[in-house]
Amino acid sequence: MRPEILNPLFTEAEALKGVGPQLAKALKRIGLTRVVDLLYHLPTGAIERVRATAASSALLGRTIILDLTPFDTRQSRSGRGPFRVLASDSDGNTISLIYFNNPGWAKKSLPMGERKIVSGKLEAYGDEWQIIHPEVVAAGRDADLPLREPVYGLTEGVSNRRMGELATVALERAPELQEWIEPGLAARETWRPWRSALAEAHRDPGAAAARRRLAYDEVFANQLALLLLRQASRRKRGVALAGDDRLTDKLRLPYELTGAQRRVIDEIRGDMAQSVPMLRLLQGDVGSGKTLVAVMAMLAAVEAGAQAALLAPTEILARQHHATLLGQLDSIGVRVAILTGREKGKARDSVLMGLADGSIDILVGTHAIFQEKVAYKNLGLAVIDEQHRFGVSQRLLLAAKAERPPHLLVMTATPIPRTLTLTQYGEMDVSRIDEMPPGRTPVETRVISEEKLPVVVDGLGRHLASGGQAYWVCPLVEESEKSDAAAAEERARILRLRFGERIGLVHGRMKGPEKDAVMGAFASGDLAVLVATTVIEVGVDVPNATLMIVEGAERFGLAQLHQLRGRVGRGEGKSICLLIRGPALSETSRARLALMRETNDGFRIAEEDLRLRGPGEILGTRQSGEVAFRVASAEDVAELAPIATSDAQLLLDRDGGLSGERGQAARTCLYLFERDQAVGLIRSG
Ligand code: ADP
Ligand code: MG
Repeated sequence: MRPEILNPLFTEAEALKGVGPQLAKALKRIGLTRVVDLLYHLPTGAIERVRATAASSALLGRTIILDLTPFDTRQSRSGRGPFRVLASDSDGNTISLIYFNNPGWAKKSLPMGERKIVSGKLEAYGDEWQIIHPEVVAAGRDADLPLREPVYGLTEGVSNRRMGELATVALERAPELQEWIEPGLAARETWRPWRSALAEAHRDPGAAAARRRLAYDEVFANQLALLLLRQASRRKRGVALAGDDRLTDKLRLPYELTGAQRRVIDEIRGDMAQSVPMLRLLQGDVGSGKTLVAVMAMLAAVEAGAQAALLAPTEILARQHHATLLGQLDSIGVRVAILTGREKGKARDSVLMGLADGSIDILVGTHAIFQEKVAYKNLGLAVIDEQHRFGVSQRLLLAAKAERPPHLLVMTATPIPRTLTLTQYGEMDVSRIDEMPPGRTPVETRVISEEKLPVVVDGLGRHLASGGQAYWVCPLVEESEKSDAAAAEERARILRLRFGERIGLVHGRMKGPEKDAVMGAFASGDLAVLVATTVIEVGVDVPNATLMIVEGAERFGLAQLHQLRGRVGRGEGKSICLLIRGPALSETSRARLALMRETNDGFRIAEEDLRLRGPGEILGTRQSGEVAFRVASAEDVAELAPIATSDAQLLLDRDGGLSGERGQAARTCLYLFERDQAVGLIRSG
């Protein structure tokens, strides 16, 4: 249970004085529901103000505080220009105070002839000095305009000042906590205790050491949780599964394994032959041939008399894996079945029966395969494909549940930099496929402005006329499947007008069988174009499709674009990826698209992506079910993860039950960052 000392932090924000239902609702919109959320809602910068007695050209560009007396107003004749209040300072200079809207409010807060304190950025406009939308307070109220004021991320109905006050109230509730950071490290970094670091980070957004300490706490909690997961998973004995190659020898493949595939298969089969459960992450770029590696691992399990399960992130992918496996394994007497949310009634019962009595060797499916009701006779290996939807908490559940945990192989094509591997899969050993099957020509990528859409459609026409197939991916309109689907439907409609009925459509709101029918028709070549939302992002394999068109490309993440592009370039022919971009591109979007054009190397894309995010940006990946940090920036994570990992490991080596003083403090840290499940994994005694 969460230690009592943290309770004040986990109460609702509404419990704070001055926070009523209305304010609470506004705060909730940006995820600030509890006291702890307010505490960690750190300022993103600061306004620096200069107190001046009079305006001067030396002050241009600075945010100044100045006593001014309004003496006139101006409204442009058309009424469309800004409203201006002319005011004079103590030297008799005239400053225009500019209001683009709300002249009524300007008149009210700046009555003629009444001296006020005004603050804002002093700018030159022609030979005039002006301040746009100044802050105004009554004369003598200097205290209301501090020289340095933290700036917070805001939402409608909460002013910056209010947010600062909330932080102060939240801080009053924050207790002093026992230190969990190793003393030597804290001393070297000149880190202050948790509470004063928090206070400092709120008071002074530039306080680098304070922020870094808070980021470290967060990364440390994450790494410690992962190491606990590792410790717990490996404490239980698994089953040693030594394959004897009797099945793999019978496997008939149309190609040779690549050297990299051979190497990782050895690593995996080596792990599985031990009774310590395997915890292995297999990274390999799109198209590097991970499925076959999974097959070889699963066959080792079957050879050793156990069952294996392959978890796919989507229905489409599960069906595709099932078809592939049937094709390869049926003839060698391995029994493969599928189980998803759609298998119902008798079909479902018979699969469940087969799993329980051992007549099914390999099960493929979606998350349904690890549900409570699914009982295996002897599950020896679980393979998780494209794991970015199978986050840490799911792994925790899996580890906590099994008496004799199965060997675990997690496969991902999401190219992530090494340091992030550490924070996302820190409990695992890593294998990498760093070689592509031979004979692949790299996909040629072009970035095209959306004004040229007609040219793209003409190009598509030529591609289809020559017998090619293509994907057309529609932009993410909002974070909603509904509007994505609408955009895709519209695009399909337009393409059908021109190309007739060989245009298929899949999106997340379609029913399973409907989706399968469309995918099937595309795979068999009956459909020439597959218009889709990102449901096709992972895994789908149609070698004859050699053209990928991505609309609104700037709205996708780099990893996503790379995944999408990976859908083509799978066959003999040369493949092309057209990234259609919208009109207004930010610097970063431009750089990201240029990077896509420049390289096909997923890991390089990942490293650059991290760099392009810049130091300030937080790794917000909450929607994909992965670790999200709220203080630690991408840069912090890169720097701090290795330190935090070895620190956490050292702590566990000395005090595996986390029962000593620092151990107890570390438990508190886990709770503070809501790694409650991990605490349940701590060795007792
Ligand atoms: P991913 O790693 O993205 O899951 P897949 O396992 O889907 O990749 O493999 C991509 C394609 O490469 C498949 O069509 C597969 O049959 C083929 N493939 C896999 N291994 C090899 C190999 N050693 N040589 C040639 N083709 C291969
Ligand atoms: Mg795959």
